[in-house]
This record gives sequence, structure tokens and C-alpha cells, in this order.
Amino acid sequence: MSKEIAGRTFSTPEEAGVEPPTAQELEEYGKTFREARQKLRAASPDPEVLASSKFHDEISGTELDPRRGVWAGISGHRSVISVGESGRQRMFHERNVCHFCGRFALEAEGWAESIPPYHPILATWDDDANFFNGSFHVGCVRAFERRGEFRQAMVDWLTATNRLITVHGEDGQPHEISSTGLGYTEKIAELSDGEIYEDPRFNRWVFIEEAGPYHFLELDAAEALSAGDRIRGDGGGTSVVLPTEPDAGIESWNLPGLLNFLAVRDLYQGLLDDLEPKYEFWEGGVGRAGYILTYSLSAIRPLPSSIGDFFARYLPNYTSKRLEDA
Ligand SMILES: [Zn+2]
Repeated sequence: MSKEIAGRTFSTPEEAGVEPPTAQELEEYGKTFREARQKLRAASPDPEVLASSKFHDEISGTELDPRRGVWAGISGHRSVISVGESGRQRMFHERNVCHFCGRFALEAEGWAESIPPYHPILATWDDDANFFNGSFHVGCVRAFERRGEFRQAMVDWLTATNRLITVHGEDGQPHEISSTGLGYTEKIAELSDGEIYEDPRFNRWVFIEEAGPYHFLELDAAEALSAGDRIRGDGGGTSVVLPTEPDAGIESWNLPGLLNFLAVRDLYQGLLDDLEPKYEFWEGGVGRAGYILTYSLSAIRPLPSSIGDFFARYLPNYTSKRLEDA
């Protein structure tokens, strides 16, 4: 399933740790994005300036077009959405840079994640940009001074269906943009370290930490946690452009070796020590954007035990939702 708008392609929902969107949701995303861009253009003759580079994610451009087939082969339900021609080259290398610390973010569910650009999330904490998307280390969010604002933006996105957000353009006037939330509308738990919201249509939840980061939970994950088990994050393959070209030895590097090369091992030491990461090199090669590494990486998801305690009480009386009721 793929979506083409104006010939520019990027982003996959898996990178945000979210469910792949349905065809209908992709339609809505595309519509939202077209509306957003129209509003932004109305607000400024230079929407790139207004929206900042973060409005565009450079997960792929022409550089990665040849990779799209590979990605589709790796993960059967990857979706591609594309939104306009401008800025194709510019932000590509920023894609795996943590929004908060500026260092490389190698994605691992629960540890380093990203939000794709078709989710217009208001960056209220950022004086230079209207919208936030891109990569971040989960730990950097927790340590961020204005994490309360980040958290509120996440709550607004995760717990809404459709909403209007207000953007102030360069003309100084407010412009309303409609935005599609993820639909976890029902708050069902307030725990000591966060809140759990339920999707009324599907058997899925999101735990939003008091400190800002969020974690998606499917039914099987909730059941495992309620039984006291630890759960492993998504280990599907993904591709990333490395900041500099490695030597051929990368094919046999272990995860600490790769993290050393990326100069971010300190940020991942807790993952190495406690979360039993499984890393596998799949393939690598030089493209126009740089060296593209395709790999898989999964680890135990760092979730507080209070989630499992809650689901142990909640699930025995929970009625599983059926697709036909959605
Ligand atoms: Zn960071």
C-alpha cells in the first residue's frame, strides 16, 4: 500500500512505533497535509521558512526510491506517503538526528523513536518551528526541560480523533489546520508514572509517561505484561543513512561497535546493559545520500511494572473488541 502525492516519498509509520495506517487513514493524512500546506502557503510566501525543516522528513527522496522495494520486501505492510516536491535534499541527513540532543538516533522501540511528517504535531516548546516530527532518544525527552509541553503535544495527538490546531503564520494571524489524531480517546488508568489510554475501536492502548515519552501496547503485549513477562520491541528491518561511511568491517560489527562508530554508545549503555538487544546487519551500500545501512534491532521494552499490574486487574473483565464493531 503506498500513497503518492506530488511525487515525493518518505516516512513509514513503523518508525513512529504506530500501527500502519489503513488506506482510508492515508487518504485522511494526505488530505490533512494538503490542507495544512495550503494554510501555510496562505500564511507565508515561503512555507519552508514558516514550517521549518521539521515539516518535512527526509526518510527518503530520490535517493531512497530504489530502496522502497527493499523496504516493502522487509516488512509487508510498510506504507509510503509523499507530500510535495520542495526541500527534497535538505533535511535528509537530519532524519536520524535527535531533536533534543542533536546526536544520532538509532531507532530501537522504547529507546529511540521517530514521528513521521504526516502527523502535524505542534512544537509548542520550539521557538523556531511550528511542527515537530523526526527522531528522538526517549531518554532525551525525559531529560528535556520543557518535556511538559512535549507531553501535552503527544497527548493531543494520541488521544484525539480529528482536531483543529492553530498555527500562527508569519502574517501574525492564526490559521486553523485540521489534524488526524491516533484515536486513543479513553483514559482508563492514572498510574504513578503515567496514564493509559484505550482505543475504543481496537484492542490497543498507549501508555504516556509522566515524563513525556509514550509506548503503544497491543493486546498480546498487555497480556504478557499482566503475566509479569517482559516484552520485546519490534525487530523488523529498517534502513538508515549513516553520517559517515564506515569501512567494510561494518558487516561484522556488533551493536556496541556500531554505536561506537556513531559516537552514541553512552546514550545506549542502559539498553546494552539491561535490555538484551538483538542487532543484525542485513546489508549496506553507498547511495547518493550516503552509506545506507539496512539492519534489524530489537530490545526488551523498558516499561514500568505498574503497567503490568494494571492490566492484571483490568484484562480479566475486559471484553475484546471485534473488528466488525469498529
Ligand atoms: Zn537525544
